[in-house]
Parts: sequence; C-alpha cells; structure tokens
Amino acid sequence: MALDRDGYGVIQATRRDSAHRIAYLVFRGSIERGLVIDHTCHTSDTSCPGGSECLHRRCVNPAHLELVEPGENTRRGKSPSALNAQKTHCRHGHQFTPDNTVIRDDGRACRACGRHAAAAYRRRKKEMKS
Ligand SMILES: [Zn+2]
Ligand SMILES: [Zn+2]
Ligand SMILES: [Zn+2]
Repeated sequence: MALDRDGYGVIQATRRDSAHRIAYLVFRGSIERGLVIDHTCHTSDTSCPGGSECLHRRCVNPAHLELVEPGENTRRGKSPSALNAQKTHCRHGHQFTPDNTVIRDDGRACRACGRHAAAAYRRRKKEMKS
C-alpha cells in the first residue's frame, strides 16, 4: 500500500469502484485482467436469495474474496442466468452448444427451437392460403 508522508496508507481512488474490489486490491493484490471477485461467504451460504437482496455483496472481508473467471462467478451464483447456465439442453432436448445458443436479455434461447417455430409458422400460413 502507498503511504503518505505521515505514514498513513492512501488509496488513490480516481473512479468509483466497488468496495470489495478496493478491499481486494488493498489486502490481497492486483486483480488480473478478465477475472472477477467472488464472495466465498455468499457461495457457501445456500440460504442467500442472491441478487440485490444479497447481503454478501457489501462484504469487504478480504478473506471472503476470491478471484474467479467471470463464468465461474455466474455459475456459482443463483441468479436466473446462473440457473440457466447450468442447463445443458433446452426443454425440447436440444443441446445448448455455442452454435445452437442465442443469448438474450432473459437468458439463453435454443436456435433449433427457434427454427422449428419459424417453420411451423410458415407452414400454418401456407395452409391458411390454400
Ligand atoms: Zn463475507
Ligand atoms: Zn449472498
Ligand atoms: Zn430446442
């Protein structure tokens, strides 16, 4: 940590940053590019509702902070997108491969199902015409 001339530790905060990120930077060291901080106290508390209700998000105990890959962070969480990420197949049994997955705001969508739906729609339209 940097010290001022009176021996106090100083943090140069040039921008707004999460308190837990600052805590990690100060007590644990640098945050590698591309990694995010996971709250281990949150991950081990299965009763936590997650999201903005989560009290662990404000935790700045450096012992509870761990650097993880961004994907790991969402997989461990319990947000809808995290639960979605655990699913390997859509509800019609198509596998969520990178090619078959469309990322949407509300989660992932299956491309194969989208194609089937579009084809069924076109078939119906054709039937109506004839
Ligand atoms: Zn904690
Ligand atoms: Zn939590
Ligand atoms: Zn599907």
